[in-house]
Amino acid sequence: MRRQAKLIGSFKYKSLRYAPNHPLRIPRVSLLLELLQSLGLVEDRERVESREALWEELLLFHTEEYLRALRECESKGRLSREQRELFNLGNYENPISPATWRGSLLATGSSLQAVELFQAGYVPFNPAGGMHHAYPSKANGFCFINDPGIALQELLRRGYRRVLYIDLDAHHCDGVQDFFYEEDRVFVLSLHQSPEYAFPFRRGYLQERGEGRGKGYNLNLPLPPGVGDREFLYVLEKTLPLVAELYRPQVYVLQLGTDTLREDYLSKFELSNEGLLRAFDLVREVLGEGIYLGGGGYHPVALARAWSLLWCRLSGREVPKSLNPEAKKLLLSVDFEEFDEEVDRGYLYERLLDPLREGDLRPEVKKVVQEALSYYL
Ligand SMILES: [Zn+2]
Repeated sequence: MRRQAKLIGSFKYKSLRYAPNHPLRIPRVSLLLELLQSLGLVEDRERVESREALWEELLLFHTEEYLRALRECESKGRLSREQRELFNLGNYENPISPATWRGSLLATGSSLQAVELFQAGYVPFNPAGGMHHAYPSKANGFCFINDPGIALQELLRRGYRRVLYIDLDAHHCDGVQDFFYEEDRVFVLSLHQSPEYAFPFRRGYLQERGEGRGKGYNLNLPLPPGVGDREFLYVLEKTLPLVAELYRPQVYVLQLGTDTLREDYLSKFELSNEGLLRAFDLVREVLGEGIYLGGGGYHPVALARAWSLLWCRLSGREVPKSLNPEAKKLLLSVDFEEFDEEVDRGYLYERLLDPLREGDLRPEVKKVVQEALSYYL
């Protein structure tokens, strides 16, 4: 029997926003929930209310002094200059806001709920998760608490010995990679914009293959700007089945940032919704069901649309051909004026799915795959 899908989320995120000038100030999880509700694509029995992570769960990944500083952001609303510098907090990149502590606690608790639900026989999706840049003792790349890292640690604590982490965000998962760099019980596979031109710049290169007993258990596919459906799917098709065969994971965690989409202004990838959906299908064809987390994504409408399609797949629903008037009204009401000129409004607000975009397969993309796999062949 098919596992039942569970959507872990909360409307509490509405009041747990980032600072007003930040790319993550936008509605994300709450907008997804509202969109699914307006389209009649989620039932109450499929929804799980998010819980906050506990202190001892956070310690699976983070240091106590860093966590104390994060908690102070909430209680005092500010930090000393020394703390800000030490923990990379309270700056433009990682501002102090309700998202810093409360929002992160909720997103992380939800990733742990995802682990629990998966073990209980469900297919969990936590769209608030996937904050893959955070380090044990510092904030990084808009991320404060590394919920995928904590979920992976929890899986190890529960006795899994071969856990595959797949990261399809447009940015490299530096916080997760570095934490498990010497670990053979976690294999990290990441497709991303090359650090030669994109955040996090100092991590995500092909040569980073893990160290010690973790050597060979880290596979980076750094890709050039302009990667669209064809190239993205090519890279995944060439690498994932091989990793699956070599590593034989007992469970996997998939990070599903939507900043790979063409509409997203913070990345140079150009996937369509259909491309993202096919990548998702491919992972599930090769590995069966896993634990699904959100990730980056800075265009609220593109993000809500894409995640709603992934939810349709997970919950075994047909993808609706178009948006109904209520859903369209909802998306049009999103306050996101400053980037509207960059997108085709009609396209984004009328339709759910768009056609797969054909394109050339560039030699440099083939070369990255070849070099990446040469280590194993
Ligand atoms: Zn990203």
